[in-house]
Amino acid sequence: MKALQYRTIGQPPEVVEIETPEPGPGQVRLKVTAAGVCHSDSFIMSLPEEQYIYGLPLTLGHEGAGVVDKLGEGVEYLELGTSVAVYGPWGCGLCYECAQGRENYCVNAAKYGILPPGLGSPGAMAEYMIVNSPRHLVPLGDLDPVKNVSLTDAGLTPYHAIKGSLEKLHAGATAVVIGVGGLGHVAIQILRSMTSARVIALDVSEEKLTFATDVGAHQAFPSEPGAAVAVREATNGEGANVVFDFVANQATMDLGQAMMRAQGDQVLVGVGAGTLPVGLMAAPYETSIRSPYWGSRSELYEVLDLARGSGIDVHTEVFSLDNAPEAYEKLHNNQLLGRAVIVP
Ligand code: NAD
Ligand code: ZN
Repeated sequence: MKALQYRTIGQPPEVVEIETPEPGPGQVRLKVTAAGVCHSDSFIMSLPEEQYIYGLPLTLGHEGAGVVDKLGEGVEYLELGTSVAVYGPWGCGLCYECAQGRENYCVNAAKYGILPPGLGSPGAMAEYMIVNSPRHLVPLGDLDPVKNVSLTDAGLTPYHAIKGSLEKLHAGATAVVIGVGGLGHVAIQILRSMTSARVIALDVSEEKLTFATDVGAHQAFPSEPGAAVAVREATNGEGANVVFDFVANQATMDLGQAMMRAQGDQVLVGVGAGTLPVGLMAAPYETSIRSPYWGSRSELYEVLDLARGSGIDVHTEVFSLDNAPEAYEKLHNNQLLGRAVIVP
């Protein structure tokens, strides 16, 4: 089968021919219907050899959808041909966190070397993929896999981030979204459908600012040091109750801190390696800082239901598997609007 693999440190991913995998006991093989292109893939492919821990060659794709194609020995309660989305942050299924569906915070994953598809295990950018347990599949029903595959990360991650701050997003509150890319444009829509907060978006690209208001932001400002003043002016001088930072480099983290009001949440989702001073005199009183990772299994059901109720419309640019390297090049050059989706 064809697959998109990261094979050499520092080189772009390549389309290669590899053996079609067979599902082992307890596993499920999917015929892939769609796979999303995430900035985290770009991030891991930018790491120098001594920091790269995901194995080579790596079949990319941690946002996956497919139809159930073959069942490994002992797999029950799953029908061939069912259209499913893949829950990516695989855990052990046995620990306290996994018992609550929070496999993204499994306490045993590191110990047992359990790695997400596309981030250590073979991912969804291939004609077929192996899912290690039927537990990691969520039925898509009549949701279009191409339009909705990215909800497994670009939807689930902001959904989980926003749910953790819902209490602070009451009427009259302001939420700021920094970075209107794959995750950010979905975050704006989730905020609009789940809260009555005012939503302000920041980005460095003019096109993304227009995109932000198209998908529901009330206002959008260029992401530059003056943006903190712009946000304060837009909120009677009060500032943001919650800042969702989908970049989280030094510039955006400083900016976020400068626009927070007391008791706010600064939520760091991006993998940029900024740092923040904390403490009574360093930041607005009682600011909480969170750095959420992905989301829980039940939250994936919830985010798909939100899409079913037309609360989310992922803006997709579709590429074939042969053209997948081009999707990564466009992502790298910030030339994508919404999410690139690979259809094998
Ligand atoms: P993307 O490339 O689709 O979007 C990034 C957006 O940020 C673009 O619109 C870009 O113009 C904008 N941007 C860049 N620099 C900026 C700045 N200084 N100020 C404001 N905007 C700026 O990326 P994505 O796939 O949406 O991923 C966003 C981030 O989230 C990445 O760092 C990714 O690795 C991370 N991520 C984290 C998790 C998690 O679980 N925490 C999950 C998925 C992705
Ligand atoms: Zn991702």
